[in-house]
Amino acid sequence: SSNRVFNFAAGPATLPENVLLKAQSELYDWRGSGMSVMEMSHRGKEFLSIIQKAESDLRELLNIPSDYDVLFLQGGATTQFAAIPLNICQPDDVVDYVVTGSWGDKAYKEAAKFCKPKVIWTGKPDKYTNIPGFDSLEQSPDAKYLHICANETIHGVEFKDYPTPKSSNAILVADMSSNFCSKPVDVSKFGVIYAGAQKNVGPSGVTIVIIRKDLIGNAQPITPVMLDYKIHSENKSLYNTPPCYGIYMCGLVFEDLLAQGGLGEVEKKNKKKAQILYDTIDGSNGFYRCPVEKSVRSLMNVPFTLEKSELEAEFIKEAAKEKMVQLKGHRSVGGMRASIYNAMPYDGVEKLVAFMKDFQARHG
Ligand code: PMP
Repeated sequence: SSNRVFNFAAGPATLPENVLLKAQSELYDWRGSGMSVMEMSHRGKEFLSIIQKAESDLRELLNIPSDYDVLFLQGGATTQFAAIPLNICQPDDVVDYVVTGSWGDKAYKEAAKFCKPKVIWTGKPDKYTNIPGFDSLEQSPDAKYLHICANETIHGVEFKDYPTPKSSNAILVADMSSNFCSKPVDVSKFGVIYAGAQKNVGPSGVTIVIIRKDLIGNAQPITPVMLDYKIHSENKSLYNTPPCYGIYMCGLVFEDLLAQGGLGEVEKKNKKKAQILYDTIDGSNGFYRCPVEKSVRSLMNVPFTLEKSELEAEFIKEAAKEKMVQLKGHRSVGGMRASIYNAMPYDGVEKLVAFMKDFQARHG
């Protein structure tokens, strides 16, 4: 509609307009049930059909093998920073973290409360602008898992390929919060994938965990019941009251992604969007600058600075006037950041790019 803005927020973030309209049409009376999804018992047949459909559509989208469980949980990806070590290892176990940004660093720090994590590589000296070559990684021989953040939301650094854990018993664990369902992923390469929904697939309040089934059932004795994957797996994410409405919204997004032709098609669109934005930055003769090493630039979060940093406030103000909002970079790094998740239309990025060129012509 005419008062919708192009919302470049990092999350919660823009949702597909057709999904919002569908939710609106079903809000008051969900498919003749006489009630809203918000009012349904999570144990009733209506909600069971919603969560089961959401799971089967997600399985189809990501081609999730049958020996993996899909859990719809709460607490955000931040809760998973603790749940992962609590479920996968004992207090004396060594685990490896590759830290390519602030989120990986937070995950590492939380893990230190529950096991013996080691940072085997950090991008901090280069202000988190790159990703290491996998051959040079010095993995701990006995590590239980290797943790990565597949896409660093603040720094805009994205793994394009994945390292293999050194030990054959070790698993790869990935925080995919900010690039979940943005492209096809070979789930079988991972032991655990986790993601908050509020960037690519729904509202905040839902956290999705995809875990190989044989990893479930070894939680440390101190593990709170809400963090124990076995409890959630045995109860099909219905041990306690789940975030019902959020799961319903994720389900609508999954349906929409399938209708678009699946994640291969979605990735093509995301590449096109990212390309015109990075091309504009790189073609600006230094007026705009993206510090991230080209080969690992994120398709989802595009950070950039202005050579004349005193113009940044003006840039954000003028963009907002033209209905392009939330372009300010994270408070920890400054500058600008355009988050262009699945639901950001090509038109939105095209409009941003045109604005950037015009802004440069006026201020360059
Ligand atoms: N990991 C990544 C990559 C994120 O972008 C975020 C949120 N911005 C988090 C973890 C934390 O997620 P939550 O706020 O859902 O706990």
